[in-house]
Amino acid sequence: MEKRSVLIYAEQEGGKLHPICFELLGKGRELADKSGGVVSCALLGSDVAALAQDLVAHGADTVYVFDDPSLATFDALSYKQNLVPLVKELEPHLVLFGTTFSGKSLAPRVATALEAGLTSNCTAIELQDDGSLLQVRPAFTGNFLAHIKTKSSPAMASVRYRALEAKPKDASRKGQVVKRAVEKVPSPVKVLGKGTPKGASIAAANVVVCAGRGLKKPADFALVKRLADALGGVVGATRPLVDDGWISKDHQVGFSGTIVKPKLYIGVGVSGSPQHLAGMRESGTIVAINSDPSVALFRIADYALVGDMYEIIPQLLEQLGK
Ligand SMILES: Cc1cc2nc3c(=O)[nH]c(=O)nc-3n(C[C@H](O)[C@H](O)[C@H](O)COP(=O)(O)OP(=O)(O)OC[C@H]3O[C@@H](n4cnc5c(N)ncnc54)[C@H](O)[C@@H]3O)c2cc1C
Repeated sequence: MEKRSVLIYAEQEGGKLHPICFELLGKGRELADKSGGVVSCALLGSDVAALAQDLVAHGADTVYVFDDPSLATFDALSYKQNLVPLVKELEPHLVLFGTTFSGKSLAPRVATALEAGLTSNCTAIELQDDGSLLQVRPAFTGNFLAHIKTKSSPAMASVRYRALEAKPKDASRKGQVVKRAVEKVPSPVKVLGKGTPKGASIAAANVVVCAGRGLKKPADFALVKRLADALGGVVGATRPLVDDGWISKDHQVGFSGTIVKPKLYIGVGVSGSPQHLAGMRESGTIVAINSDPSVALFRIADYALVGDMYEIIPQLLEQLGK
């Protein structure tokens, strides 16, 4: 089989690597090891060189560091301008991004510049026996899984956060760290302020307690929050509650909101529409609380609690209190 080399965009924010880097490295390492290829990372930012060793410890053979104050704030245009020449030079078979705020902005720009095909929002990437790369992504609100092979080179994919497994860190791993000259691009983007997108908190949460239209009034989110707090989790919501202005969009779980994969998902007064299931069906343990035993969410739930959420949640809180 021809060697398969992989280049990973190692996303960092404020000097901290996004955990998706380690997940992409886990997959990159697996693909490269199967074919005798290498795994490289592109790390861009200001004062970020110290992060390179962590990428090596998680599987990178070489980390190309673009370290300059002009890259301190993510700007898709200047990041693209530095990344594209590296891809042309290394000629990897596969370039991986996370389906994150910056990954979603950067990957299509890089793909366009390279005239390469991009498969966005993948949940799996496999190396076939014939050496081709199969990219799997949900389609039609997750009811189908599209299997995609890219004809152009390099294959490019963005991968959903928490879809892949990171390999354990090996601090003794050795790799190369290569400092690259940074091309400073006058950017038309003016940064007015900085902040962390709030939606990230439900995407990364280990416990999500999600309220649906079973909730009678906005103030009742307090009850849902008490359950989330008791479990060390965060509050999610279905789209109708967001559309009605009961809670902000960054809490919306689902196809047109945030895709979550917590260890524990509890849906209270949630029916389980296809659009909602598309955003949470990969959760570890799924608990559904609903007064109607026929709802779709019960069909995928590990635990089904049939009854009034206003009676069941206080009982759960009492038990958790013990
Ligand atoms: C293009 C598009 C994108 C969409 N994207 C999303 C998305 O990202 N996320 C999303 O969630 N939706 C999305 N939707 C909306 C989706 O189709 C559904 O309308 C929505 O998910 C239903 O939300 P729900 O389960 O809260 O409400 P409902 O379907 O009305 O369900 C409410 C449930 O509460 C139960 N209930 C009522 N009272 C109680 C009680 N006291 N105790 C216990 N249970 C009770 C009822 O039995 C019912 O099952 C989208 C729709 C479209 C068209």
